Amino acid sequence: MSDDATMMVDGIAVTRIPMLSDNYAWLLREAASGVVAIIDPAEAAPAEAVIEAQGGRLDLVLLTHHHDDHIAGAVALAARYGAKLVGHQADAARLPVLDVAMRPGDTLAFGDAQIRMIESSGHTVGHVTYVIGERIAAVGDTLFSLGCGRMFEGTPVQFYASLQRIAALPSDTLLLCGHEYTKGNVGFALSVEPENAALRARAAEIEALRARGAATLPVRLGDELATNPFLRARNAEEFGRLRAAKDRF
Ligand code: ZN
Ligand code: FE
Repeated sequence: MSDDATMMVDGIAVTRIPMLSDNYAWLLREAASGVVAIIDPAEAAPAEAVIEAQGGRLDLVLLTHHHDDHIAGAVALAARYGAKLVGHQADAARLPVLDVAMRPGDTLAFGDAQIRMIESSGHTVGHVTYVIGERIAAVGDTLFSLGCGRMFEGTPVQFYASLQRIAALPSDTLLLCGHEYTKGNVGFALSVEPENAALRARAAEIEALRARGAATLPVRLGDELATNPFLRARNAEEFGRLRAAKDRF
């Protein structure tokens, strides 16, 4: 979408922070209050560099799921800045010790905005999405551009329901995904819908972005609804077939 690491959405500054080989953590600052949150820090050091450059404040560390490549930097960051660790109460045993254990449907103040947790089991059971403000969704490894996470723990019924919850958000919602997997997802998506004009245009855009080393994320939900085969599946059974086919692709 953009070469800029930072973009503004409804008074919330969103900064993409590359981590490990292909992970992204996301830093969010609610401009009116200055409250800062980070999503899924796999590493502390790259996050600290950005946090320091933006004023040295961190209030919340939001965790989408228990995998190491989403939580490994969380405790060190929370300790350094006095931030609160936030995650799903039902998965607390697999997450760092939580300061704020939320359940799907719960909300948390984020300055003048709100953070709402929604259930996103499928990649793991207990995976959640955070809706920040009205038009930002941190989806972790539930949804990628043109793809979705591997189904390690959930069922097709669970995973499909989770994707439908995301699909029901406003179509201009900005999706903050956990990995830069987009280019690797193009081939499978085109094999499902070779004649999809929006998908072909997106494939060309992705090729151009990656050729100059730019990120393909974040992406708008509306663009994914037009191009992502897993969001376009009509039911859980079709989703399950697609997920199995992609595992073999
Ligand atoms: Zn994961
Ligand atoms: Fe991951």
